[in-house]
Amino acid sequence: MSGLELRNIVKNFGAVEVIRDVSLEVNDGEFVAFVGPSGCGKSTLLRLIAGLDKPTGGSIAIDGKDVTAISAADRGLAMVFQSYALYPHMSVRENLAFGLENTKVAKAEIEARITDAARMLEIEPFLQRRPGQLSGGQRQRVAIGRAIVRRPDAFLLDEPLSNLDAELRVSMRAELAALHARLKATMIYVTHDQVEAMTLADRIVVLRSGRIEQVGTPLELYNKPANRFVAGFIGAPH
Ligand code: ADP
Ligand code: MG
Repeated sequence: MSGLELRNIVKNFGAVEVIRDVSLEVNDGEFVAFVGPSGCGKSTLLRLIAGLDKPTGGSIAIDGKDVTAISAADRGLAMVFQSYALYPHMSVRENLAFGLENTKVAKAEIEARITDAARMLEIEPFLQRRPGQLSGGQRQRVAIGRAIVRRPDAFLLDEPLSNLDAELRVSMRAELAALHARLKATMIYVTHDQVEAMTLADRIVVLRSGRIEQVGTPLELYNKPANRFVAGFIGAPH
């Protein structure tokens, strides 16, 4: 198969089971949202997919190849964090190039990718600035740009809009949808915001206490929630 496959993933921290037997297939190019209450294991699951942490049990395959033991850098994925994680002492341009410079990617190719991403995200005017001289929304665009220039097979986004004010969140949501349409890359998107999940995702994975409660399209979850928890979480607005 192509895409991402999680098989019986378990993650314990000490005696605490944080991820309990999660199996899931994500198709190439699909936009999948992980939703669920704080502490249910969304970030942990994303870190396991990214290779930033190792599962206690189970396996992860990308395009049919077992990557459970493969390092984060070699998985062809790019992660975008809620906290931006930009280097404050580097310019935006340097932040975008960082991590690509000592790879096989040629200098001219790096420049071309930066120009392309900067245009797409409308951050061209800020390339020489440092992150501290940018607004929250601009910083978040740079963080997304840094993922884009790596040309990953999949983007892993952990609540990337949650630090933004409501108005900006709505416009960035539209930008993410446009970006997904343009890049046609797989996106796995963690959020505790149901509206974000409902408007952006092809499928939603509802997590509770480290388990999957239900997986389905927004419409399926909305019309046929598997239980009261899902119904309450996806919730028809009254
Ligand atoms: P979410 O992103 O859904 O809010 P997390 O994946 O961050 O949830 O956390 C799930 C659970 O795992 C929480 O109870 C959290 O305290 C615990 N946890 C996460 N990371 C660690 C860690 N490195 N060590 C111990 N416990 C952790
Ligand atoms: Mg989290």
